[in-house]
Amino acid sequence: MDCIFCDIIAGKSEAEILFENENVISFLDIRPVNYGHTLVITKKHYENFQSVPPDDLTHLMKATQLLASAVVKGVNADGFNLIVNSGKAAGQTIFHFHFHIIPRYYNDFRFKPDFKTYSEGSKKEIADKIKIEINKKKDSFYG
Ligand code: 5GP
Ligand code: ZN
Repeated sequence: MDCIFCDIIAGKSEAEILFENENVISFLDIRPVNYGHTLVITKKHYENFQSVPPDDLTHLMKATQLLASAVVKGVNADGFNLIVNSGKAAGQTIFHFHFHIIPRYYNDFRFKPDFKTYSEGSKKEIADKIKIEINKKKDSFYG
């Protein structure tokens, strides 16, 4: 399988590594939105958020918490965005699951979504569709 992040883990491709333990590794994004833009990944290859098993998700979240505060302090940021792009439509380009930690400063840039307004009844209709999916999965999800 061709995966640039697996190559970085294996030391076959270069990266500016910030942190590494048995389960996770973190390095600077090669094309930063702001300086210090950091990626955090599991050493095992999982394609997306949905496929990361609970133990690895815990390892990843814990490292991300450490890294988020270190990045903010290290580059003297005012805050950060923790971002997951899941699926091509959401902008995912590397299909080895990762968190982006993006340091943010007052007045640096804006995400400009075209905000929607729920029409009468559509909020409940959409919530009901999501709840059907939750109910289908929740028993097996929580074991
Ligand atoms: P995605 O778009 O999948 O959420 O994020 C992938 C990220 O990986 C992008 O921000 C991109 O700049 C970064 N990236 C892609 N190839 C490399 C690489 O070879 N080295 C590093 N350090 N980052 C990479
Ligand atoms: Zn990989």
